[in-house]
Amino acid sequence: MTTTPLNGTLAEPAPTPLALLLLGREADTASERGVDCPGDLPAASDPDLVARARAAKAALGDRVFILGHHYQRDEVIEFADVTGDSFKLARDAADRPDAEFIVFCGVHFMAESADILTSADQRVILPDLAAGCSMADMATAEQVAECWDVLTDAGVADTVVPVAYMNSSADIKAFTGRHGGTICTSSNAERALTWAFEQTAGAARSASDKGGGGRGAGKVLFLPDQHLGRNTAVRDLGISPDECVVYNPHKPHGGLTAEQLRDAKMILWRGHCSVHGRFSLDSVNEVRERVPGVTVLVHPECKHEVVEAADLVGSTEYIIRALDAAEPGSTWAIGTELNLVRRLAKAHPDKEVVFLDRTVCFCSTMNRIDLPHLVWTLESLVEGRVPNVITVDPETEKFAKLALDQMLALP
Ligand code: SF4
Repeated sequence: MTTTPLNGTLAEPAPTPLALLLLGREADTASERGVDCPGDLPAASDPDLVARARAAKAALGDRVFILGHHYQRDEVIEFADVTGDSFKLARDAADRPDAEFIVFCGVHFMAESADILTSADQRVILPDLAAGCSMADMATAEQVAECWDVLTDAGVADTVVPVAYMNSSADIKAFTGRHGGTICTSSNAERALTWAFEQTAGAARSASDKGGGGRGAGKVLFLPDQHLGRNTAVRDLGISPDECVVYNPHKPHGGLTAEQLRDAKMILWRGHCSVHGRFSLDSVNEVRERVPGVTVLVHPECKHEVVEAADLVGSTEYIIRALDAAEPGSTWAIGTELNLVRRLAKAHPDKEVVFLDRTVCFCSTMNRIDLPHLVWTLESLVEGRVPNVITVDPETEKFAKLALDQMLALP
């Protein structure tokens, strides 16, 4: 592989569609990946960081509203005005029209959603532009447009309704809006799929009247997380795993024949979360041996076999509520991001809360947002500089909002 020397010591892979940029360097506007973070960051070892963050936040007062995703570090969560999952945070931001600056301690697609849902005069700021999401990166606008061409050539596009997970770029949300689909979260994926299949029933009838459609007529294209799509379709809607096919954007025609596409009900994009995708059936079996009587609770972004082997499955908010409601003395193994699991363990000293896997499982890009980046952001704002503004262009915003509004209107 060709490499480019950086500073005489580091080498970066030559750009390919799959090569990761060294985080925090260069611009990569075609994806969620990082661009540089200008200015001098305070040193992580600065003993005054907490005091500096407090002082800058106090100086900004109501002009700033800080959002903290559940997977953020404790040192950042300490300064969040609200915490939550990505959609809750975007709505919280929309509910604060007086706040001039929305500092989103999360990842890039979340800040985009906040920009879409907030007013034009509010600025959404991501403290480190290198905080992307590997799952969102797995579906680019070009790849998804190509997929639609493949579906069109196979004669099934008229019968497909796209459903995009919240964890996708604004481009993918806009694609979904353009094609009459909806966004979903891990809390409402079942409702979103049910709604989408109701839409496809009508589309399939009209396609069949025109001689199109096919055997599995009425389909959903689920983007970009194959696991959430499969888990919801199979577990909640009773769709057979045989009716789910995986579209691989790195293979010609997605690696699927026209016949496979015609027979399918669920066309799952080949994407996954690099955190939740790590949990395995072995993790579940091992924790059951290690902790007798444990209740295994996992996120639906985990693989299907993990979800099947778990006792309970639910979104981040569901996991938090389940722990709040749990009996004192009960034991829990949680399959989600480690920062959140640690916080839950700390918040529930009367329960035993363990991490589902023995290996470390932080979201590395979420962890890009640390106290030095937050201090740098807040102090820049105090000094009158507005760094790292995330802006979605009006055309993309229009169609992405259509898909987001459709989600809000789900029955
Ligand atoms: S936890 Fe997974 S889905 Fe969430 S931001 Fe990290 S990589 Fe993306």
